[in-house]
Amino acid sequence: MNKEELNKIKEKALEEHIPIIMDDTLEVIEEYLSKEKPKNFLEIGTAVGYSAICFTEFLDKYGTIDTIERDLDRIKEAKENIKKVGLEDKINIYEGDAVEILPTLNKKYDAIFIDAAKGKYPFFLKESLRMLKDTGIIFADNILYKGYVLSDYNKHKQRTAVRNLREYIKETTENPELETKILEVGDGLAITRKK
Ligand code: SAH
Ligand code: MG
Repeated sequence: MNKEELNKIKEKALEEHIPIIMDDTLEVIEEYLSKEKPKNFLEIGTAVGYSAICFTEFLDKYGTIDTIERDLDRIKEAKENIKKVGLEDKINIYEGDAVEILPTLNKKYDAIFIDAAKGKYPFFLKESLRMLKDTGIIFADNILYKGYVLSDYNKHKQRTAVRNLREYIKETTENPELETKILEVGDGLAITRKK
């Protein structure tokens, strides 16, 4: 892949304040991917395609990414970006709200990256667990949300998001069938596997 093109995509996204994955979070996920080489990868929250483009390099040779985005302008830009780096045959965008699209999917995935509306994380988790292979792995970005999630500060205007992120953590850490690590990289990353 053309690293220069990828860097341009990253710089433009940062300039436009599009919340792309942070470098340290990306590094952690890429380390897992390079060991496990997933074939079927699902991403919830494409934005302009930056993270999906980064992940493709670490998939199985025949691996592909399905990624969901609802914002029309971002979908358009993601498609252009994916074309620029020549990954049209590796990345498939589902256009629409993940809340509606996820229940229509029936594929099994080796790895899932949750990175969309924080208030929907418990729902995304439920749908992800339904489609996750027994050996699969789920990454959830922004799980600590600027530190709000682990603090007792709950008068913030984003309290619905915070409540749902806490619920995601509770569900993944207290469910006896799951094993979860919460890492303080970037905006917080939860890594969950089935036991
Ligand atoms: N994964 C990207 C960043 C995603 S930002 C990267 O690291 O490069 C989160 C994106 O999720 C936004 O573009 C937003 O439009 C999208 N989003 C939020 N809620 C969504 C939903 N319910 N369905 C589909 N897309 C959603
Ligand atoms: Mg994110």
